[in-house]
Amino acid sequence: MSNLFQNYNRWNLEIDSGEGAKVIDTNGNEYLDFTSGIGVTNLGHNHPKVKAALQQQLDKVWHVSNLFEIELQERVASRLTKHSSGDAVLFCNSGAEANEAAIKLARKHTDKHKIITFEQSFHGRTMATLSATGQEKVKHGFGPQLETFVHVPYNDIDALSKEMDVYTAAVMIEIVQGEGGVNPGNEQFIQKVEEMCMEYGILLIVDEVQTGIGRTGKPFAYQHHNISPDIITSAKGLGNGFPVGAMISKQALIESFGPGTHGTTFGGNPLAMATADAVLKIVFDEGFLDDVANKGDYLLSSLEKELGGCSFVENIRGKGLMIGIACTGEVTSLLPSLRQKGLLILVAGQKVIRLLPPLIVSKQEIDKAVGLLADEIRSKAEAAKV
Ligand code: PLP
Repeated sequence: MSNLFQNYNRWNLEIDSGEGAKVIDTNGNEYLDFTSGIGVTNLGHNHPKVKAALQQQLDKVWHVSNLFEIELQERVASRLTKHSSGDAVLFCNSGAEANEAAIKLARKHTDKHKIITFEQSFHGRTMATLSATGQEKVKHGFGPQLETFVHVPYNDIDALSKEMDVYTAAVMIEIVQGEGGVNPGNEQFIQKVEEMCMEYGILLIVDEVQTGIGRTGKPFAYQHHNISPDIITSAKGLGNGFPVGAMISKQALIESFGPGTHGTTFGGNPLAMATADAVLKIVFDEGFLDDVANKGDYLLSSLEKELGGCSFVENIRGKGLMIGIACTGEVTSLLPSLRQKGLLILVAGQKVIRLLPPLIVSKQEIDKAVGLLADEIRSKAEAAKV
């Protein structure tokens, strides 16, 4: 009998080691990893520079509390603010914690508590962030929730405008909804959200936990649109597997989080910061994100070429290396057979295949994954006809 809570539907597979976009299981089988630990190991497994940075820090000091000066935090914060609309950073340990911090900051700064989020959104599983999440399955059994979150349909400006008023503290949005089905926000919608936030004096929070740190081919996905959010949250790819989260905010909000208002024991500890510093140095380096955008286009066009006319596929969508293939039927049954052929992929909901390859994936690896995936989906389409 396992001594673990059974709160995950685990695959019958244990990873023993990894290198780049490949992992090897405990039986010695090799897989192409298009899951990246759900958008985390963006620089691939065992990245030499990230590993060296962590190893170097391991020999110096692991943890000191936030009562001390931590120069590495300054360095990581400077990289994050240089590449975003923010001016100051608060470090924590996960995406949910980054969103918790954003929710608390928005409430404290505005002295209001209504926050608008979107149907199908996902913001985490703490009490505040599951209340913020626009999916019933995440909330089920955990009521009563924080009642001041209002969910409106995504990409629907009329529905949003009906809820926006002077009592609203913030709008919290994913630029591409990840867990909710890889749904990209459309250009006009995203622009209008910002415009209306400005009109009513509402804070704009972008949840970049999954889309940030280069996943979509820009440092943060909101940068595909001409907007300047008040608060940005980040986690997942920031530590490439080392747990770390961050909330980045504009100057005007800084004074609302003075000493004693918010904090965490581990947030921003030297091990996390050494790792994040090495990750950001690589991701924000000249040319790296152009290459990601280029490979994202290549993946999307390869999938469209292979699966464009397939009756099982409704549409293929996404940004950069965050791609969803929306299908007409359930897709979880594809996962075991693809695993057997050496490809690890994800789903988002019942009918969307989700691909999150590492940002360092090669075009050859993309070709291999697309070939395996297209064969499997075409077989599924044929089977559905019989
Ligand atoms: N926000 C978004 C957009 C996410 O995709 C996730 C996790 O999938 C979270 C928040 C929660 O992050 P964590 O699991 O690190 O708490």
